[in-house]
Amino acid sequence: MHKVDMDLVEMTLDVMKYAIERISTTERKIGKPLKSEELKALVGETVTEEGIGGEVAFNLWKKHLSTANVPVDHPRNLAFVPAAPTRAAVMFDLVTSASSIHGAYWMEGAGGIFCENEAMKWIVSLTGMPEGAFGVFTSGGTAANLSAIVTARENWRSINAAHKREKGLIITSIGAHSSIKAMAKVADIDVLLVDTEDRLEGAALKDTINSLTPDERERLFAVVATGGTTNAGIIDDLEGISAICNTENLWLHVDAAYGGGALAADSVRHLFNGIENADSITIDPHKWMFSPYDCGAVLYRDPELAKNAHSQQGSYLDIFKDEGAHGFNPTDYQIQLTRRVRGLPLWFSLAMHGTDRYKVAVERGLELAQIAGRLITEHPNLELVREPSLSCVLYRRKGWEPQDYTHWTYENHEKGFALVTPTKWKSGTTYETVSRFCFINPDTTEQDIVDILKTME
Ligand SMILES: *Cc1c(COP(=O)(O)O)cnc(C)c1O
Repeated sequence: MHKVDMDLVEMTLDVMKYAIERISTTERKIGKPLKSEELKALVGETVTEEGIGGEVAFNLWKKHLSTANVPVDHPRNLAFVPAAPTRAAVMFDLVTSASSIHGAYWMEGAGGIFCENEAMKWIVSLTGMPEGAFGVFTSGGTAANLSAIVTARENWRSINAAHKREKGLIITSIGAHSSIKAMAKVADIDVLLVDTEDRLEGAALKDTINSLTPDERERLFAVVATGGTTNAGIIDDLEGISAICNTENLWLHVDAAYGGGALAADSVRHLFNGIENADSITIDPHKWMFSPYDCGAVLYRDPELAKNAHSQQGSYLDIFKDEGAHGFNPTDYQIQLTRRVRGLPLWFSLAMHGTDRYKVAVERGLELAQIAGRLITEHPNLELVREPSLSCVLYRRKGWEPQDYTHWTYENHEKGFALVTPTKWKSGTTYETVSRFCFINPDTTEQDIVDILKTME
């Protein structure tokens, strides 16, 4: 074999070995960030005219750079919404990369898109949306929310010509994810926030709609409800809200980016009743469906409306829309043209393990939240801020000030022991700094929780 080829084979084997080690090791340290200058001092110049060689670069990665990351799949990483991709999905992510599939059009990516669609059918089935509903995988919840909001807005404008120059308005609650406000800004849409971080009830939505000025009511086209708030795991009153959206002729988008995985869990499925009436839904497989980053999804009751909003036109694209393509073109239903077939790793993992394993893994996250709730209640210095909801647990350390939580977080992080971060919870008019767990990883143990709580004594 040619020398260069041999090097390539060796490098490939090294990289594969690293990847296998990475996904099979359970005892990992939680890495910590260094300043950019510090990393530069450790690795020196890496991008040069001559190149530094694969082996050197890879060694720098292994020694200095990989350790400056906090793995989200660490069993004691309970911050934000962590992730725990299955090993099957991670391995197939490598296959996805190696396959160079352009996932925009069926004509080029039929095999990959077929697999994505099989996985998508399962996700759609979890929601109970009616026949004809379908979705596409996006880069994440943010892109899914944007795609859905733009679809809703374009649909609203297409129905009434008077709305073409009008700035749209949506209603959501302060429990909604930050990306709703951020994406409304991108789409130049006003947002009205119902002032509750707790469950948004149909009645409160109704009151808010009734309080609008005629101009605001004219501009109102959609409501965004949350199926599992990121901060506290709260599911809005989807039944009540969907009934009001129906009578008021408003688009209902349900943001279940984090909570959507729990649709698979029989123990909590009823909390989502009403989600089947949504016009669009966001679910992030990279959160609670054990997919590697990045993989979100947007689902539509009527995908044709998304196509009207998002299908890109261009002379060099026409060929793909030709009869010859005969298939589903994911680009038509969200904001991105060229795209990775990012649902492919999920498909492989689902096919390998079966959907029952997903149910069990999600139920474990819910169970861990209940276990944590019990341990906190039994602890003399700790108390729950509210009952655990989905897999989120908000709790306080009696007598602690905000800086005590920050200090505690840094200390555990510094030791490479755990990443648990504080948050704020609004009750009445005041925000209280509290501690928060979010359980995704079924490998997190009761002992992990005991050990973390011990550091709060
Ligand atoms: C995480 C999250 C998002 C944003 O999703 P990304 O994948 O991070 O873009 C949106 N909504 C909710 C409810 C979330 O939890």
